[in-house]
Amino acid sequence: MPDRDVVIIGGGISGLTALHFLRTRQPDGTVTLLEAAARLGGTIGTDHVQGHSFDWGPNGFLDREPLTLQVCDELGLDDTLERANPNVSNRFICRDSTLRAVPSSPGKFLTSDILSLKGRLRVLWEPFAPSANAKDESIYDFASRRIGREAADYLVQPMVSGVYGGVATKLSLKSCFSIMHKMESEHGSLVKAMIARKRAAKAEGKKSGGPSGPGGWLTSFSGGLYALIERFHELYRDHIRLEAPVESLTRDDESWVVHCSTGETLSARSVIIATPSYKAADMVQSVSKRLSDHLAAIPYAPIAVVCTGFDREAVVHPLDGFGFLVPAKEKRDILGSIWTSSIFADRAPGGQVQFRTMLGGDGNHAVTDWSDTELVTRACGDLKDIVGLKAEPTVARVYRWDRGIPQFVIGHGERMASVEKELIELPGLHLAGNAYYGIGLNDCVKQALYVTDRIRNDQ
Ligand SMILES: Cc1cc2nc3c(=O)[nH]c(=O)nc-3n(C[C@H](O)[C@H](O)[C@H](O)COP(=O)(O)OP(=O)(O)OC[C@H]3O[C@@H](n4cnc5c(N)ncnc54)[C@H](O)[C@@H]3O)c2cc1C
Repeated sequence: MPDRDVVIIGGGISGLTALHFLRTRQPDGTVTLLEAAARLGGTIGTDHVQGHSFDWGPNGFLDREPLTLQVCDELGLDDTLERANPNVSNRFICRDSTLRAVPSSPGKFLTSDILSLKGRLRVLWEPFAPSANAKDESIYDFASRRIGREAADYLVQPMVSGVYGGVATKLSLKSCFSIMHKMESEHGSLVKAMIARKRAAKAEGKKSGGPSGPGGWLTSFSGGLYALIERFHELYRDHIRLEAPVESLTRDDESWVVHCSTGETLSARSVIIATPSYKAADMVQSVSKRLSDHLAAIPYAPIAVVCTGFDREAVVHPLDGFGFLVPAKEKRDILGSIWTSSIFADRAPGGQVQFRTMLGGDGNHAVTDWSDTELVTRACGDLKDIVGLKAEPTVARVYRWDRGIPQFVIGHGERMASVEKELIELPGLHLAGNAYYGIGLNDCVKQALYVTDRIRNDQ
């Protein structure tokens, strides 16, 4: 007999929400979460330095996913939820070292300077662009086919590097932006699909969404995202073991046996592996070489986050927006910069502003080897050119993610079909985490609910 119902491996948002769903939906079950590090949270962390709150990795989630908000409510965190400042909806693209506002309506797009006249006319021609074929197409090919190369280079690629740290020519449209693929297959055009959605939403009395679905506000917690992790720890500390790195899994007749590198073993009816996929690959090697190979093949992009604080008067730009993205064609070190203190005023002390600047991305693997000084110097060098800096930062912190963001490259859908096929042969074994069906916090929460529902249905 296994000594517990479920073991969860990994204490990031995926493992912690899985623990929450099991404890709240099946309180009689026995569950233990094993986390390798001495702290919970994985890529989620917040440091409080000289009055600034610096998020290590993610800085929020979009409030369009009701399940995440429901979890916050169940955790009793409703009162501490913090929405992005609604007055700073501007987003910018850096072109020729100048920040150009991303137009918020078709009328503004026509007169904007974000693309050349030819580029803008090509975007407007979208409804007449040739339709898709069935193959797994790259985001870049899709975008250039529908809205032209200039828009693909200056609007789409920066968005892909901002979200995925990825390269649009490599990433799969179906796996990263399935909604776009669906809009094209159902309506033959994104514009026609948006019009149809607007009409449907109006008929239902709802607000309509943009091309990536209903929008949503960036949402976090007062003082930073780590408040979420602290709450999980407070509520579930009796079910969590820190500094318990799992080395491997084996199977006996009735149960899964989890082997920690401390020498301890635990047995369970079901196991949820909620670690990065390359760690999961190591763990399952002796139970399924094929599964291990599929998991090991999921690539990751490196990201360095450079958080800096400046006196307000040292920055020339009004910082009246979310921040900006940099197209790869600009050949700069930074991928973009988020104006954290414009979005969440409490992240910087009075009289100061805060930037969260990203470097690296797929193909720029050297960034995580650069020293803190080099990363800060390069980030500030680009910021100086783009937003105008008259002084050095008053505070700086660097966070490196060597394998930061999983890349859903062309063929990811097929790879996941092979993973699912292998899992059928391994009843009781489940995967959660950002490497499979979506990289955002909302995706991790949804995946955690999906696997815990399956476990409850199986038991
Ligand atoms: C720089 C950056 C910015 C981001 N920004 C956003 C954002 O603004 N919004 C958003 O929605 N998403 C964002 N993301 C993505 C989001 O952070 C991740 O998708 C999410 O946090 C992943 O959570 P996870 O629990 O799946 O994995 P992780 O956070 O990686 O957690 C996995 C856990 O498993 C543990 N572990 C590993 N090996 C073992 C082992 N052998 N035994 C036991 N435990 C182990 C690790 O220590 C870790 O705690 C960002 C990511 C990065 C890197």
